[in-house]
Amino acid sequence: MSAKEIAGRVDALGKRITLDYQNKPLILIGILKGAFIFLADLIRAIDLPISVDFMALSSYGNSTKSSGVVRIIKDLDYSLEGHHVLVVEDIVDTGLTLNYIYGHIKSRGALSVKICSLLDKSGRRQVAVPLHYKGFEIPDEFVVGYGLDVDEKYRNLPNICKLVRAIDE
Ligand code: 5GP
Repeated sequence: MSAKEIAGRVDALGKRITLDYQNKPLILIGILKGAFIFLADLIRAIDLPISVDFMALSSYGNSTKSSGVVRIIKDLDYSLEGHHVLVVEDIVDTGLTLNYIYGHIKSRGALSVKICSLLDKSGRRQVAVPLHYKGFEIPDEFVVGYGLDVDEKYRNLPNICKLVRAIDE
């Protein structure tokens, strides 16, 4: 996906969110680290007085396979009471991470909790998670760029690219 395609889709998502949350106090929760670039672009496409918070979770470590183990490294700074929440994620793969986050955030007293993910690998889902806003559906391929990494590399690529492995790996 080119930077231009991503920008167009993020803009459309921002416009829809703007319409859906008129006169509703909204907090966007970015899931670190992968969602930081998406969140930064998305909030600038939302024309509402929003707040932003972050959660950090253990992810793939240095591998490209899901461990299924989810651990909170950084929890929310603010109470969610009296606010609508939109969780902003980079990619939903097995769904294990978001399933955990969704339950965790729902127990914090928000008025509503919805999920926005830039990418969706729905073919790999192990647990069902409600994806209210979605950027792109992608096949079962490991991708990097626009915030997504492999071993902390490639987050700064402006495009989203398929990771091609060397033959001896
Ligand atoms: P899940 O718990 O849904 O299996 O995995 C979600 C997390 O796995 C994402 O937030 C992301 O950190 C990582 N992940 C899943 N697929 C990919 C991918 O294709 N590329 C990268 N860089 N990370 C991925």
